[in-house]
Amino acid sequence: MAAGKIGRVPQQQTPIKVLYLAMAEYFSESGLYWRPLGGNNIDQISGHCYQYTDIKSLKSGLKATTIVVDLGKFDNHQALGIKNSVAAVPDIRELLKTPFLEPEAIFLTHSHPDHLNGIVHYLKAGYSLPPLYGGKYTMMILNELYDEFCVMPYERPDFNIIDDGDVIKCGSFKIEVLASSHTCFDSFGLLITAHDGTTVYHTGDMKTDNSTYFRKPTNLKRLAQMSGKVDFTVCDFCGIVRDGLAVREVDTFKKLVQIIKKSRKNKIFIPVYPTHAEMYLIAFLAALKQKKDVIFYGGKDFYSYLEQIKNYGLDFEKLAGNRIKVYVGTPPEIKKLKGKFAVIGTYNDIGNHFNESSSDSLGIITSGTFFNPLRGQFNARNIRFVDTKDYPVLQGYGHGFLGDYEKINQILAKPLFIPTHCPIYVIDSCRKLAEYIGIKIATPTAQNNHTYKLEKDGFKEVKASPATWLVVSYANNQAAFTEVWQKPTSGMGFLKRTFSARRCRNQFEMMLHQRQNKDNRNADK
Ligand SMILES: [Zn+2]
Repeated sequence: MAAGKIGRVPQQQTPIKVLYLAMAEYFSESGLYWRPLGGNNIDQISGHCYQYTDIKSLKSGLKATTIVVDLGKFDNHQALGIKNSVAAVPDIRELLKTPFLEPEAIFLTHSHPDHLNGIVHYLKAGYSLPPLYGGKYTMMILNELYDEFCVMPYERPDFNIIDDGDVIKCGSFKIEVLASSHTCFDSFGLLITAHDGTTVYHTGDMKTDNSTYFRKPTNLKRLAQMSGKVDFTVCDFCGIVRDGLAVREVDTFKKLVQIIKKSRKNKIFIPVYPTHAEMYLIAFLAALKQKKDVIFYGGKDFYSYLEQIKNYGLDFEKLAGNRIKVYVGTPPEIKKLKGKFAVIGTYNDIGNHFNESSSDSLGIITSGTFFNPLRGQFNARNIRFVDTKDYPVLQGYGHGFLGDYEKINQILAKPLFIPTHCPIYVIDSCRKLAEYIGIKIATPTAQNNHTYKLEKDGFKEVKASPATWLVVSYANNQAAFTEVWQKPTSGMGFLKRTFSARRCRNQFEMMLHQRQNKDNRNADK
């Protein structure tokens, strides 16, 4: 294989001592340093991982505390051109190999693969990792990954369960855990304070929606107490291209209920995406409200997440009471079911068990792209379906929109925003709009593997290094990493659709004009 073409980095053995000296060049000053290792990608969104290093000057010399926040996988690994790859992960090997910078902990904001799955591949590649901190649900999903990849109990790093309000001392860092509204249980943001008092709110994936059926919402009360005390917000800008506030859970629920009621159909098919715990419950509650029995029916992933949701403590039987019956899979009774039921199931297949017909059935599609195979199935069977195109509110959304960050900006009294979780062109093209609405965005635009110093009064790039992914392949139950340069992967691999730089620019320009027009109209009044 032509290494140059795919951008493979030549393997080189750098002695630890040399690395340490190279480090010392830019870590020679006391202060807080931040580096995205995945998350500020060129185009695709995934593979999240961020380094925080607090350097303290002592009489005996410099002392560093490093923590890593999230270690996810990069979804579009096929596009990186390594045969038989199963994943790609951020490159934290330098941290693991350099005693001065060795992480004291890895904080996991939540259980989604793009924030969590790198852990397993590092362990399978023979690395030992520092203690992990994450929510109970995150631990449950990680344990399942350990089993799936045969990670032996003795190979698993210590796991510390954290929850909203916990304060953890980690070297010279103080880290406070904040509940965050996202689409799975136990999603957290972190308030990270360095020894000199510089404080960062690392949002994790979140929206500000405080309506909730299944988890603690974003802790806006605590954020209000921190008003004026947070210097930086390392922020989830995934949904920033949409104006207003992110879809609220309660609105998705109400719309589902309304659609089911209005349809007058007996059989309702509501596919849910497996990692989207929120939709399992919202769909269930909507069926319950309309007194429809519920059949959970799906593929392996669907059942495994359903099991985790139950193990976590959600009791569907109890919620159902005597009002409806709840089935899992296709038990014999299903054949005899004539009445009203809702099938909550896998996102790409409704199977052949429910005698559905055009006269008595309706499909409800709750996601833009993932459910395309299902659209085909509904069409082939002549079953009418409603879509997120008809009702955008059907798409439960875990990431804040522009309005959510205006709210955060106001609550925290204008911290400096460091956008993450989006392609870097999103950050570049939203600057004008952000400025207009009073959101300060750090300059220069943060890029993977560039290191920045976060000071009370500024944001400064101190080192720029080319970013790499480690492509993971397996042989004999052992992972091997191949280092490749990060590159654009849109239009390649299985993730063909990406929000293009041009569309993104146009979108922000349109949003800016709308704001300006609105303000002009108000001024005229
Ligand atoms: Zn997420």
